[in-house]
Amino acid sequence: MISYLKSIIPFCLFFCIVSCKSQAVSIKMEEKIILINDTTFVNLKNYSQDFVYDMKYATTNNFLKAKVYDCGECFLRLKTVNALIKASKSSIKEGYKIKIFDCYRPLDIQKKMWKIVSNPEYVANPSKGSIHNRGGAVDITLVDSNGKELEMGTPFDFFGKEASHNYADLSQEIKENRLLLKRIMSEANFNSIDSEWWHYNFKSGLTDKVSNVKWNCD
Ligand SMILES: [Zn+2]
Repeated sequence: MISYLKSIIPFCLFFCIVSCKSQAVSIKMEEKIILINDTTFVNLKNYSQDFVYDMKYATTNNFLKAKVYDCGECFLRLKTVNALIKASKSSIKEGYKIKIFDCYRPLDIQKKMWKIVSNPEYVANPSKGSIHNRGGAVDITLVDSNGKELEMGTPFDFFGKEASHNYADLSQEIKENRLLLKRIMSEANFNSIDSEWWHYNFKSGLTDKVSNVKWNCD
C-alpha cells in the first residue's frame, strides 16, 4: 500500500487542481485518513477489481492503426471513478460487467491522434480538448459472465451512422443492449452522445480543466 501511495503522490502533485465545485474525499489507508480532492486523477484498478480492460489505444488494434499509449491504464478523476463504480455495481446486478476501451487521454496523446487523423468527425480537435482530456469520459461496453461483449451493432470506434443511438435499423437485441448500457450509465450521472454508443461523459466533468500529465508505465 505504501508503494502504491508513493506511486500516486507524484501524480497527485500534478493533478490536485481544486475547483470550486470539487469536494474533499477521505480514504482510509493503513489507519491514516488521507484527504484527497475528488478531482484528483486516480487509477481505476486501485478502486475496483470489477472491470474488464481492453485499452485499444495501447495497441495497434484501433481505427488509427497506431499504438498511442506506452501502456494502457484507466486514469480518471476520482469523482468519475466513483460514478463508474456505481454503474459497475448496477451492471453486475444485471449479470454483466463493464469493459473499458479508453479513459483519461493526456492532451499530447490527443494531439498525436489528431496528427494521424485530422478530421473532427473522428478525433476531437486538441485546440478545444475533449472530455477524455479532462478525465471525465469513458469508452465502454458490457460483457457477459463469459467475458463476451454484448452485441452493440458496430465495433468500438466505428465511425458511421450505425454507431448512433438514434440509428433505427438494428435488431431488437442490439437496441436493448444499447439501452441497458445507457440506463446503467444515466443512473450513475453519465450522459451519452448521439454518435457513439460506447462514449459516456460524466456530467460534472465537463468543466474540469484539460490535463496533459501522463501516467508512469514502469
Ligand atoms: Zn470516447
